[in-house]
Amino acid sequence: MQKPKNLRSLDVKAFAKARTYLEGETPIAELERLAQDCVGELTGHVVWSLQGAVEPDASGKDAIWLHLEANATVPLTCQRCLHPVSAELLIKQDFRVVADEATAVAEDDESEEDLLVLEDHFDALALIEDELLMALPLVPMHPTCLSERVPTSKEEEAILAESKPNPFAVLASLKTRQH
Ligand SMILES: [Zn+2]
Repeated sequence: MQKPKNLRSLDVKAFAKARTYLEGETPIAELERLAQDCVGELTGHVVWSLQGAVEPDASGKDAIWLHLEANATVPLTCQRCLHPVSAELLIKQDFRVVADEATAVAEDDESEEDLLVLEDHFDALALIEDELLMALPLVPMHPTCLSERVPTSKEEEAILAESKPNPFAVLASLKTRQH
């Protein structure tokens, strides 16, 4: 099986029937919607794998499946101290591919797996990005913010003092959140 040229234009049926396995790394900066939620310089990658398969569905009929795994560590803003906080996103999701939107709507409630509508030019990278966006923490936060840690030395005291939220940064954050 030839490696599909473009993850953004996948023939899902052929991909699954050939039981293709693909893995790769995509810079977070290339996923625009995800990058918008991140702060600072984006140097990280999303590590992903996609396995196509033909396997029975719950009723025993052969169906087309995509098994997706992805992980990424993204820099977000801690909502308590407004300093950067890393969030690790781990995705492991099974998708069953159905013929059309009507089938997807009809079967969605009783399916444990997620349903996708069959496309000849399926954007698998957008699917990976959708899953990562859904895995983002609603309120990113340090388990313990630097400013709340009790300093154990003079040196650490200085670091902690510097990490106190800057009131101007707080204001700026409030403004951007209104948009
Ligand atoms: Zn914090």
